[in-house]
Amino acid sequence: MSEILHRSLTRPIRVGNLIIGGSDEVIIQSMTTTKTHDVEATVAEILRLEEAGCQVVRVACPDERAADALAEIKSRINIPLVVDIHFDYKLALKAIESGVDKIRINPGNIGRREKVEAVVNAAKAKGIPIRIGVNAGSLEKQFLEKYGYPTAQGMVESAMHHVKILEDLGFYNTIISLKASDVNLALEAYTLAAKTFDYPLHVGITESGPLFSGSLKSAAGLGAILSLGIGSTVRVSLSDDPVEEVKVAKEVLKSFGLAANAATLISCPTCGRIEIDLISIAKEVEEYIQNINVNIKVAVLGCAVNGPGEAREADIGIAGARNEGLLFRHGKIIRKVPEATMVEELKKEIDAIVAEKLAA
Ligand code: SF4
Repeated sequence: MSEILHRSLTRPIRVGNLIIGGSDEVIIQSMTTTKTHDVEATVAEILRLEEAGCQVVRVACPDERAADALAEIKSRINIPLVVDIHFDYKLALKAIESGVDKIRINPGNIGRREKVEAVVNAAKAKGIPIRIGVNAGSLEKQFLEKYGYPTAQGMVESAMHHVKILEDLGFYNTIISLKASDVNLALEAYTLAAKTFDYPLHVGITESGPLFSGSLKSAAGLGAILSLGIGSTVRVSLSDDPVEEVKVAKEVLKSFGLAANAATLISCPTCGRIEIDLISIAKEVEEYIQNINVNIKVAVLGCAVNGPGEAREADIGIAGARNEGLLFRHGKIIRKVPEATMVEELKKEIDAIVAEKLAA
């Protein structure tokens, strides 16, 4: 056991122009929902994901038609492309040949040794990593029989089985995931994996559900795991538009101060002192800052009683007052603005601070 207990101590693995592992940075990824052979739809979805802040994208490669589309997809997007393959080594070879940045395949499921070697040699030649993806729901028979049901120990042993196949072939360019839809099981599996491997871990709570419940479950699970210093890349899995997955992942990382370039909104829960329509203002401002890739904190508070002081860490904020708003920076009021224009004034201030920070 290597007793690696923090993501910064893991092996750095290059994926396209990014490094996963070896630092405290956590990379956001998502997966397309389109048919991969439909290049137009897939590229359009990836470009939407990029705009939302997705840093690595994975596509499924279930057949030849999908594999044939990879080179063109890769040429039309700007973030590293990962290809998800089950069993078929020919699809893996084709994907690697297409210039993709990482493949997800479990070497123990490929079959004969020559086939495994062919895939590993091709990945080595192109310098691309392989992600081993262990899933509690599809754990191999030998580990299920040993423990009777999916356990963290069984999941880590499964990962170990695949890792060993790669290491025996001199391949160490590996990332590992151990997904479960049960948060406690995922937490246990990732904790054990972090002590067992020095490879970076791709963290996710799989099949977490639709937007609302799935976001909360993912936040609870990812939060528990990330708080231990585990996880170099995250994927939130939702039964929804994958752009939502990226938004949720970003919010989770922001909560831990792990999103270096993201705007954060602080808004109060409102109470009987409220002087403005805070809920709709907060929603509008949240939407406005969604795609700002600068570390800035914006506050929207219902009143000035405790307001500005409560959000001292905010770079800019607004607090409601009777028929007006008080704009403040780091807890100090800078000016009063009429209620009708206060959101516009706040947006102007946000733009100015973003410009300042970009110029710095
Ligand atoms: Fe209530 Fe004002 Fe605090 Fe909001 S900022 S919770 S309105 S006291």
